[in-house]
Amino acid sequence: LLRARNVRKRFGHTEVLKGVDLDVYPGEVVVLLGPSGSGKSTFLRSVNMLESIDGGAITVAGELVGYERRGSRLHKLPDRKVARARRHVGMVFQHFNLFPHRTVLGNVVEAPIGVLREPRAEVTDRARELLAKVGLADKADAYPRQLSGGQQQRVAIARALAMRPRLMLFDEPTSALDPELVGEVLGTMRDLAAEGLTMLVVTHEVAFAREVADRVVFLDGGVVVESGAPADVLDNPSNPRTRAFLSRFL
Ligand code: ATP
Ligand code: MG
Repeated sequence: LLRARNVRKRFGHTEVLKGVDLDVYPGEVVVLLGPSGSGKSTFLRSVNMLESIDGGAITVAGELVGYERRGSRLHKLPDRKVARARRHVGMVFQHFNLFPHRTVLGNVVEAPIGVLREPRAEVTDRARELLAKVGLADKADAYPRQLSGGQQQRVAIARALAMRPRLMLFDEPTSALDPELVGEVLGTMRDLAAEGLTMLVVTHEVAFAREVADRVVFLDGGVVVESGAPADVLDNPSNPRTRAFLSRFL
């Protein structure tokens, strides 16, 4: 579903992504691990077209992300087309980024109505189902500030799902939460994985990776240095840098 080939990204003189190859197949859950600064967020943001890339190509469901091919060259799409292409990819951030002045329901229905121009009644029904799925059916009329961090993050997940993305990206969705709230968010993500949602997740929650991931990918220095089944990568990493990194978590 996601295919990234030789993806390169520079910020000024610093090359952050140095040729990333990464695939996510339909229904797969891939956990992306790596030290701070290794380019995990930059990669996810590139998949979601929040960053442009300097080389290589990313396709989601066979469509180039943010670019079109003209002859042998790739050209950046105009913003209007980017916004439409982006709807296939949902993203959940470390900080939930909810609209503070909108209710929970208002947050979830905003994009399907505003961007996809779907009928309000239909979107509202779907939003209520999604809120029930993330365990927040009774919070539809609350405002974000009235919710715990874990509840806000579950609203953010429902909001992303309301666009019916094919692929969901999670960038350290639990790392801003108090420890006692981490479990409820990981539980929601586990449920989504069990339903067959395709997910690429940056997280340092090794237990979640072990239990839920189909594959673990280790990014270091802007390249994928290791990729494989969770048990292989987590318990028996062949790369010394993966080993050194994991020794801090296990
Ligand atoms: P962390 O685990 O700390 O979240 P990360 O793997 O997500 O790290 P990135 O956020 O992708 O790493 O950052 C990779 C590198 O790119 C870092 O050195 C960072 O300083 C740099 N970088 C990221 N965004 C920008 C930007 N907008 N402008 C300049 N440099 C940036
Ligand atoms: Mg990051």
